Amino acid sequence: MAPDTRHPDKLDRAVIFLGPPGAGKGTQAKELARKYGVPHLSTGDMLREHVSKGTPLGVKAKPIMERGELVPDSLVLQMIRERLERPDCSHGFVFDGFPRTVAQAKYLGELLKHHGYKRPFVIHLAIDPSILLRRLTGRRTCKVGGEIYNIYERPPKVEGICDAGNLRRRRGRVGTASGRSRRSHRPALAGV
Ligand SMILES: [Zn+2]
Repeated sequence: MAPDTRHPDKLDRAVIFLGPPGAGKGTQAKELARKYGVPHLSTGDMLREHVSKGTPLGVKAKPIMERGELVPDSLVLQMIRERLERPDCSHGFVFDGFPRTVAQAKYLGELLKHHGYKRPFVIHLAIDPSILLRRLTGRRTCKVGGEIYNIYERPPKVEGICDAGNLRRRRGRVGTASGRSRRSHRPALAGV
């Protein structure tokens, strides 16, 4: 069998991103996972998948998530353990949103050791507080299409109007319910 030349630098370990929300952990985690051809393990995505598939874990997590509460460590850790035991994780993986607590970090350390992984890489993303503030307060999401903007860094072409709605308005002729179309794609304040 020909050697795998796609990923000459094997990761063979976990990568963990630490840092405040808005520092770009998710973006960096996805990019790194893509580069090394390893799974990107977002605990949020994993939980939503369990819920949508109706797994035993998902059935337990669903009412907790619907109440807007934090899913307890016992469920999160069980989910992580199951995921790490799947074969696609054998060359390493990148975490996104985990570990969040000292207890989770300790459990993860034991788990990685038990499965024979090398010591994890921990990347702490630091960010200038003023940039962080702009990023969090400037974030806008379109309620219709989910498009994401930032009024400081990546504003829509027309203030307060989603580019998708703006496009639609220009394609249609003036006088054809243009106001409604504009309003329907108006970016709204998003939660952090
Ligand atoms: Zn939109």
